[in-house]
Amino acid sequence: MSNNSSLAVGIDLGTTFSAVAYLDDLGRPVTLQNGEGDKVTPSVLLFEGNDVIVGKEAVKAFATDYAAIAECAKRELGYRMFGKQLGGRQYPPEALEAWILNKLRMDAQAQIGQFDKVVVTVPAYFDEVRRKATQDAGYMAGFHVMDIINEPTAAAVAFGFAQGFLKDDGTAPDEQTILVYDLGGGTFDVTVMRLQGSNFVALATDGEVGLVGRAWDQRLVDFVAEEFIRKFGIDPRDDANAHGRLWREAEDAKRTLSARNKCTLACDFQGHAVRSEITREMFEDMTRDLLDRTAFTTRQTLQAAGLEWSNVDHVLMVGGSTRMPMVAQMLRELSGKEPNRSVSADEAVAHGAALHAGILLSKGAGKESQFRIKNVNSHSLGVVAVDVATKRKRNAIVIPRNTPLPITARRIFKTEKANQRSILVQIVEGESSSPDDCVQLGKCSVRDLPKELPAQTPIEVRFKYEENGRLTVTVLVQGTDKALHHELTRENSLTQDQLDSWRQYISGVPAPAPAG
Ligand code: AMP
Repeated sequence: MSNNSSLAVGIDLGTTFSAVAYLDDLGRPVTLQNGEGDKVTPSVLLFEGNDVIVGKEAVKAFATDYAAIAECAKRELGYRMFGKQLGGRQYPPEALEAWILNKLRMDAQAQIGQFDKVVVTVPAYFDEVRRKATQDAGYMAGFHVMDIINEPTAAAVAFGFAQGFLKDDGTAPDEQTILVYDLGGGTFDVTVMRLQGSNFVALATDGEVGLVGRAWDQRLVDFVAEEFIRKFGIDPRDDANAHGRLWREAEDAKRTLSARNKCTLACDFQGHAVRSEITREMFEDMTRDLLDRTAFTTRQTLQAAGLEWSNVDHVLMVGGSTRMPMVAQMLRELSGKEPNRSVSADEAVAHGAALHAGILLSKGAGKESQFRIKNVNSHSLGVVAVDVATKRKRNAIVIPRNTPLPITARRIFKTEKANQRSILVQIVEGESSSPDDCVQLGKCSVRDLPKELPAQTPIEVRFKYEENGRLTVTVLVQGTDKALHHELTRENSLTQDQLDSWRQYISGVPAPAPAG
């Protein structure tokens, strides 16, 4: 069956849950149900013999087969291998993400027919390495990844659509500034955006890995485990299946506490049982510091945008964890405004991605774009330089964070010796002055500099961040316009050959024929 080239979906590839949306005949975003009839799919995998099961069925094995379960693979993107062995094998985290995307693709195709185009969302704070890993996951899942889009931006687009910012007749409400507070299962992001007519402009963005729904679950898991230790001297966390069961119970209890004032959390292990009664107040007390950290980041992001709360029209809450009443309460106190819940916490990000996919399809068909997204980079881009005085390596920042994208920056490196034939530039992302505390993006090497260049010849390296935060590097002898051949070696990325064989293995979709 051939692909429908006028069809594309948007996917919110979440740490704990994922969702898929497409645009209906009227151009409105609609969430697609998965094969089990649900709007969201747990981002959980179960390795069973040669089969990889994704979603709700995999979650059921938490209590019986925890060792064969992979969860939160998104958190490990950027590492070479997922930390846990599955069926005696280690997998690159992007391959695990690809299995999730492959299930979503198959389930979506069963409803809307064959297609291969997709826009996948990423947390705004994702560095370049993890952005690439996400695109690679989409490729391995048999998709043609048209673009990646930041999750808070996608949520803002969905909000803008619902508010009528994207009306066909070109009329739009007055300019609005919104702060998107996105607390999901595995990511926390804050982005300040300005909606001006059909322009969606990000002013500042920040976030934190690890400060997420799972951290709230962890507190409950630890609370019960410690009670178990106190009573019986044994720790249910030592047993993988008991630990898995406890995680599930804790997550369930957390959801109950969003609706009720108290709940019971039970744990059975080695013939002993503990039943803990937990009130919402107790839960809020044991997680207060986590919430405070999100408040701190929120204030900082607003400051980085050069704004005060009086400049913000809406505080938009997205992500499943914003259902905890403590979140709305904190945002109300912080901003003096009633947080806006008009977009669905679970679906907004996928809807925004579907709208972006729709725009890219129209552009591809030569139609006028309905809206424009202007992003900022979430991390500073730097090169490793040697400090002349101390001889220590340092991160020399080339593009500071929160710079509007796309952006090209140049940096001049001088050859040291006459007839030098190669140079090596080490590229990092991060704010620290020490390169070791930054994310290693890769090494850009040029091995065939023209012969007989004198010492101190300026070599120009151009760094370009695309709108979506992906980087391209060009190297020139300054004053010439001929780009020199260079290689960007990335430590933890798969090669094209590896990507092609994973694609075949996971999705059964062959690599596309080379263009031209
Ligand atoms: P997301 O990544 O946006 O899908 O968010 C998933 C996270 O939201 C998970 O950590 C869930 O445990 C959490 N979540 C979903 N519903 C609720 C709820 N009613 N109360 C508290 N947390 C929730």
